[in-house]
Amino acid sequence: MKRPVFVANWKMNLGPTEARAFIRKFTARYKRRANRTVVIVPSAAALTTVATALARRKDIIIGVQNIHAESKGAFTGETSAVMARDAGARLALVGHSERRHVFGETDDATALKCARALEHSLTPVLCVGETLKQREAGEAESTVLRQLRTGVSRLTTTQLPGIMIAYEPVWAIGTGRNATPADAAAMHGAIRAELAQLMGSAKAAAAIAILYGGSVNADNARGLLAASDVDGLLVGGASLDPVAWSAIVST
Ligand code: PEP
Repeated sequence: MKRPVFVANWKMNLGPTEARAFIRKFTARYKRRANRTVVIVPSAAALTTVATALARRKDIIIGVQNIHAESKGAFTGETSAVMARDAGARLALVGHSERRHVFGETDDATALKCARALEHSLTPVLCVGETLKQREAGEAESTVLRQLRTGVSRLTTTQLPGIMIAYEPVWAIGTGRNATPADAAAMHGAIRAELAQLMGSAKAAAAIAILYGGSVNADNARGLLAASDVDGLLVGGASLDPVAWSAIVST
């Protein structure tokens, strides 16, 4: 039986006041369940508020949306892994498609961030995914596997089991057009096979959570989660509504 992982990526939404109200509503609905992992990833500005609001809910993990590749220094506007961890985060999104496509983050930058996250005891969730153009050109798998290989290239074999992967096709993020369970299963299978090669062990690769993200909602969550090699869901828009989010994490 797999233990699914559900990650809410709030992006640049829900400041401290709204975040507090969300947590109150969500925790009133969602009671602790041992067979799933629930993660909330607020903005950096709301991290401490969410950590305080969840102080009694150790079953709900907090994450950070982005970290800088350096641990400290003159990087105005950035958040370090050390700070995020201190503020209560236990997980960090790395290489989200908006970081790659809006902010120009390279594959190698994601590799540095993965390594930095692990160095400071944050679980990196390495996000990979092809654009529509790449998919239509038949380059979906090669793009995703290149992002995967480069993203983990600075990790040692002993560090690799400490990561999670999120397959998020760019054409499905925030568009209302999700991958079908069959599309997700095919790409997750390819990611798993690549991990097995990188780790030299199918068993070790099987233990890594590979999440699907891209227009997940309360209606399509069950089908996607049932697809082979889909170990959880990374949710943007639908995670901003405590009722929809409660329904998704209760799938
Ligand atoms: C995301 O932000 O990672 C995401 C998958 O967004 P959405 O669910 O809105 O497509």
